[in-house]
This record gives sequence, C-alpha cells and structure tokens, in this order.
Amino acid sequence: MKILSVNAGSSSLKFQMYEMPEEKVLISGVFERIGMDDSLYTIKVNGTKIKKEAILKDHNDAVKILINELLDNKVVNNLDEIKGVGHRVVHGGDKYAKSVIIDEDVIKTISDLASLAPLHNPANLMGIEAFNKELKVTSVAVFDTAFHQTMPMESFLYAHPYSWYTDYGVRRYGFHGISHDYLTQTLKKELHKEKPNLITCHLGNGGSISAIKEGLCYDTSMGFSPNAGLIMGTRSGDIDANILPYIVSKANLTLDEVVNELTKKSGYLGITGVSSDSRDVEDGIKQGNERCILAQKMFVKRCIEYIAKYYVVLGGVDAICFAGGIGENSITTRQQIIDGLKVLGIKLDNEANNIRGEFKLISSKDSTIPCYVIPTDEEVMIARDTYNFLSYQ
Ligand code: ADP
Repeated sequence: MKILSVNAGSSSLKFQMYEMPEEKVLISGVFERIGMDDSLYTIKVNGTKIKKEAILKDHNDAVKILINELLDNKVVNNLDEIKGVGHRVVHGGDKYAKSVIIDEDVIKTISDLASLAPLHNPANLMGIEAFNKELKVTSVAVFDTAFHQTMPMESFLYAHPYSWYTDYGVRRYGFHGISHDYLTQTLKKELHKEKPNLITCHLGNGGSISAIKEGLCYDTSMGFSPNAGLIMGTRSGDIDANILPYIVSKANLTLDEVVNELTKKSGYLGITGVSSDSRDVEDGIKQGNERCILAQKMFVKRCIEYIAKYYVVLGGVDAICFAGGIGENSITTRQQIIDGLKVLGIKLDNEANNIRGEFKLISSKDSTIPCYVIPTDEEVMIARDTYNFLSYQ
C-alpha cells in the first residue's frame, strides 16, 4: 500500500512515499522557497538525486509537480495507487492525544489552534489543503504535541494564576513528539520491555529531552512554545520571564522584537556570535574561540541538568538515547554529556561512540544505564499512523 508522508512548512514541503507495511521508501524530496523567487525542488528516486528549478507560487504548485514526478518516475502508474497521505501538524493543543483522520472539523480545530502555533499550523494547513485538492484519499494529521498529552498536571502546568490555564490554555505542550514517540517505540523493542522508563534526547537545531515513565511521556523540556528547555541553534531555551520587560525597556525594543531575538538570535548563535550550527561551534572550539567554548559548555550543562532531573523524578531509567542532527552526529557532544553523568554510574564506550548517524549502543558494558544513538525517523511514524487507520477501515 502506497502512502505519502508530508511535512509542510510556510515555504517548504518535504515528502516521502512509502510502500507499507514494509516501510520501504519509494521516493523522497523537498520543495523549497515556495512563494519566493528561485524556488526549486529536489527528489531522490532509484538512488539518484535530482535538483530542479520550478515556479512554485504556492503549495498547490508543489503538489501538482510532485504528482507529475510520481507518474513520470513510475513510482505509481495511476493516482488510485496512493491510499493515504499523512501530514505532520505541529500543534494539536490538548485536543488530540493521537493522530486523527482529517475532516472539516479537524481542519477547523487545527486552524483554531493557530493562536498557539502561528508560524506552523497555518503552514501545515496549506499542505493539507493542497493535497486534498489533488488527491481524494484518506488524509491523517499526526501531531507533534500528541505524544506529550500523557503528561500529568504536575508536569505540564506552570505556577502562574490557574485561570491562565483554564481561560487561555497556558501550559506545557511539548514538541518533537513524533520523534520522542519513535525513540520510545524503538527502545521498547530493543529492550524487550513494554513499559520502560526512558530519557529520550532529540538534539537538533531545535532540541528537547523527554522523560518517559512506563512507556508514556511524563515530562518534556519544551513547553508552551518550542522556545523552552534546552539551549538550541538560535533559541534561548529556559530563561527568566522578567528579562523580557527589562530588555523591552533597556534596549528600546518592542515585545515582538525581544521574542524574535530569543527565538532567532539566541542559543548557539547568540552566545558565539558566530553560528547556530554545532559544526561551526565545534570548529570554533578547535580554533580556541572563547565564546564557542562557552556556548558548548552551556549547551552540555543544560542537557545534563535535564537528564539528571528526569533520572531522579522517574526513579531511575532503563535507557537513555540520543537523536537529531547533534545527537546522531556529534561524537564530542555525546561524550561530554555522558561524562557529566558519571555520578550516576553511566559510562561511555569511546570506541562505540565513534560513529555518526547509525543505531548503536554507545555505553560500556559496566555502565549502570545503557545509552544509545538512534537515528530518528519522523516520516516513517507519520506513514505508520496513516497506514494503521487505513488497515482498520
Ligand atoms: P532540525 O531541528 O532543523 O531538524 P537537525 O536535526 O537537522 O535540525 O540538526 C541540525 C544540527 O545538527 C546542526 O546544529 C548541525 O550542526 C548538527 N549536525 C549535523 N551533522 C553534524 C555532524 N556531522 N557533526 C556535528 N553536528 C552535526
């Protein structure tokens, strides 16, 4: 059964088509700079990667081209072969704890939730609507927040006036849920344990760490917005809220400008003044750049703090894993984080850790807790959820 997995952003659209349930990728690609000059797309099919320029006025143009490519490359002979489309949707609020088949009500709810995710939900909807126009198949929304809906109130509530929660929905929602869910499912299989306690670290340009209690999300580092928790590429992560009015007045900025600086000009970029990319930070460290050294210390310390507190609140864990661009590829960052956890008896196997982008146990035999690198796969999770709906229909 052929299923498309889609991740639509405001100016991009990523896709993968799977043969399910084998989970075989038939074609994948990305449309970029939608609605801008110089728009282009890249597709990967039969082991070759093709890059093409194209006029992409909107997401509809991208979907039309995608369909032509599917036919031209004989990935499908006719469109009836495509049985479902799964869409990543960033915010499901507290409305969706699971994926859902998209109908008019769901579209309205995703649209209503745009006040919580103004940058993401409207873009996700553009993708949904563009596919709905071209393909009359079951489409499924897979939410980045859904996996975190099992958090208890003591984890998701902030200690502001209670009415902020009841009247305005202020609470921790958590993000990267599709990835944390994938990591949890992978570790359940690996450990042969249905209800493990885990700490899942998704460290990419955006980063979050989740505490998994008996197989379900118990806490997570991102919060009301994705700008909470860890230090990220350009996001500050946790800061004291009173800094905002202080900077508004001292730097003569608007509140929006301050929020923009905390989202786009902070984190690795803000501290180093060099780059948001951890590879550049690592290069800076090699050259003795003091602020790169400092940013890396701050990044690692924050990760250690989250892992340590989750370890304690979970009462111990069965495994810890690392995923995302940094988690999967940065040998030194993993080593620094694990070294910082040695008081818990966690020990790294340096040779095993000397890998990038592959599934691997990287802790030593005498480590109290096994640590893994797991290449995350959000696309396959979207395809799996879509397939599950179709196979039970
Ligand atoms: P996003 O959150 O945008 O999906 P990614 O998961 O792709 O981000 O992660 C991007 C981060 O991963 C960047 O900081 C990048 O430097 C880092 N990264 C990717 N490859 C490597 C590598 N080989 N070594 C160190 N860091 C890497």
